Amino acid sequence: MIISDIFGTNVFSRAVMKERLPEKVYEEVVSVIENGGMLSTSSADTVADAMKCWAEEKGATHYTHWFQPLTGKTAEKHDSFLVPPDEMGHALTQLSGKKLIMGEPDASSFPSGGLRNTSYARGYTAWDITSPAFVKEQSCGNVLCIPTIFISYTGEALDAKTPLLRSVEAVSREGIRLLRLFGNTTAKKINAYVGPEQEYFLVDRKLLEQRKDLIYTGRTLFGASAPKGQELDDHYFGKIRARVGSFMHDVNIALWKYGITASTQHNEVAPAQHELAPIFSTANVAVDQNNLTMETMKRIAYEHGMSCLLHEKPYKGVNGSGKHNNWSLGTDDGENLFRPGKHPEDNLQFQLMLACVMQAVDRHADLLREAAADVGNDHRLGAQEAPPSIISIFVGDHLASLIRKIIGKEFEDVTVSKLDTGVSTVPLLQKDTSDRNRTSPFAFTGNRFEFRMVGSSDNIAECNTVLNAIMAEAFCDAADALENAENFEEACKAYIKEVMTKHQRIVFNGDGYSDEWIAEAARRGLPNIPCMVEAIPVLTQPDVIDLFQKFNIFTAAELESRKEVSFETYSHKMAIEARTMIHMAGKQYIPAIIRYAAFLGESISSVEAGGGDASVPRKQLRKITNLLNHATEALETLEVVFAQADNHPTAQETARYYRYSVVPAMENLRAPIDELEMIVSSDFWPVPSYGDLMYDV
Ligand code: ADP
Ligand code: MG
Repeated sequence: MIISDIFGTNVFSRAVMKERLPEKVYEEVVSVIENGGMLSTSSADTVADAMKCWAEEKGATHYTHWFQPLTGKTAEKHDSFLVPPDEMGHALTQLSGKKLIMGEPDASSFPSGGLRNTSYARGYTAWDITSPAFVKEQSCGNVLCIPTIFISYTGEALDAKTPLLRSVEAVSREGIRLLRLFGNTTAKKINAYVGPEQEYFLVDRKLLEQRKDLIYTGRTLFGASAPKGQELDDHYFGKIRARVGSFMHDVNIALWKYGITASTQHNEVAPAQHELAPIFSTANVAVDQNNLTMETMKRIAYEHGMSCLLHEKPYKGVNGSGKHNNWSLGTDDGENLFRPGKHPEDNLQFQLMLACVMQAVDRHADLLREAAADVGNDHRLGAQEAPPSIISIFVGDHLASLIRKIIGKEFEDVTVSKLDTGVSTVPLLQKDTSDRNRTSPFAFTGNRFEFRMVGSSDNIAECNTVLNAIMAEAFCDAADALENAENFEEACKAYIKEVMTKHQRIVFNGDGYSDEWIAEAARRGLPNIPCMVEAIPVLTQPDVIDLFQKFNIFTAAELESRKEVSFETYSHKMAIEARTMIHMAGKQYIPAIIRYAAFLGESISSVEAGGGDASVPRKQLRKITNLLNHATEALETLEVVFAQADNHPTAQETARYYRYSVVPAMENLRAPIDELEMIVSSDFWPVPSYGDLMYDV
């Protein structure tokens, strides 16, 4: 197979448009994509018709506005291309420019956090011309998908994409101001580029169907560890087994058809864990493509008799899954702003970029942490695995010594562990592969920053909105300070020194997992936000509202609504988990354990009747009934605690109640059941074990 034969065949790409649109219309479309603006009505009609004809040739019968509401998933409502038949009864199909540009789904059932009162529940989807339309293959037939944003009647964002697009414009506008000061007159805009590395688990579908927890919550709520975990490090980059390999192959083909540059594939740290990474693209396209990738992985896994788990923590005791968000900024004429060049010590523009990143991340560490918060990620961040919940920046030895040189003697040692001092002469690129630090949540990797906190199931729109926004602010501050300088170079040097001095505490090159770092970070005053419910309130802090309002990314009302939706999402998901545990414990585990206890009781009688020594089964039975008592009590407690969850006046208090009362009760139920799993005969155990789930694919 040659990739280029299938790549992009399902995409209404520029090449397709160039071929099918009149030249003037094509040029108008390209200009709107690159410079913004609106398509004329007649051009929109022409594009829509070409899109429909092309999609029909690809087997599409329907079209949909494809959008990303605050459910965390994508949404689509299909309409066929049919219009009323002619008088002879012939079918007629059509897609008008109006329908291409705007839709009005019945929006009342999407989360809005109070923004859109259901009694005037109008929401609109509006075409995002910067992300190409594509034909999606699915069981209900092929569907033309038109990427759209989703906004309320009054123009408030109800989705993940609208603020992202606003943030891309903001960072471009402010960044260009700076580039002009460096004499750059050619760049017209700055793009944010994103390459997300997607981690996931595969599990056999038949086994998954026997686990209510995996079915309802995407993770195991019970389960004793398998005898073998990841201690041998033999899965990471190991040979890919045939079943997994054929899944990856089919995923690649499907993604390539969608124009997604699926590139890297490998086994990850935990058993049955894998990774897929595309080549980076503009943030907007990367977000859409990552959503499509997750969906495609699930569909193809199903076709292979498996299920693709995107949850951040499917199994306790082994590595969870994240999504490393590689992010950079570059001009439309190809200059990467984070490329240090051969001599970063002489590269004032790069030094200013680095200073701006330090300011942005230090000032808004709590907001970045919030952007990575999702329900599943609570099991990863700060829970003894990658990455820690404290935000810091890893810059590598070379840049650290450069920063030291710039700051001079006021510089506080940036690391707790030892750091090679004064080796700034070694070119950065030669060293950067050995310069890796896997424990940092925000690592410089030569020409980009890798934000590693994001959860595997999360929409990357949110973290990239924040990254662009905080950089827009830092750029704006720098431009304000430098635009009227008499001697730009001198002023710029002084500004870099000032900013780096002020924000040096955010740089940390040491071991992010160590206890020393937690203490050191506290001493530096860096926030350590342990979980989602503590992170969400950051959204409406005054500094955050100011930031987003200043750059027209979120209004205060939009932020308030997102806070509400996040708290509600947390509570809903925890309620499903609690209910699932109650079901599994009450209907599966406890009855099975009782059956086994009865079996042991009978065994004791028969052994003794036969004159044997029944002390071993007797001891087992005592141990089991003892744990069974614990489990039953814990179940009763969970039921009582859970029943009170809805008695709280606000979404925030409800969510906090789940976190601090329901979650501990859930853990207390899990502990005795997991212990019992190790001593109850597997013939009696009602669900597949961790070993079955992780070693069967
Ligand atoms: P790693 O070695 O960190 O696992 P991978 O090759 O798996 O790296 O993934 C790195 C990701 O970073 C890829 O998606 C790659 O395209 C992306 N990337 C590379 N350069 C840039 C850049 N300048 N901006 C954004 N992303 C980038
Ligand atoms: Mg990586």
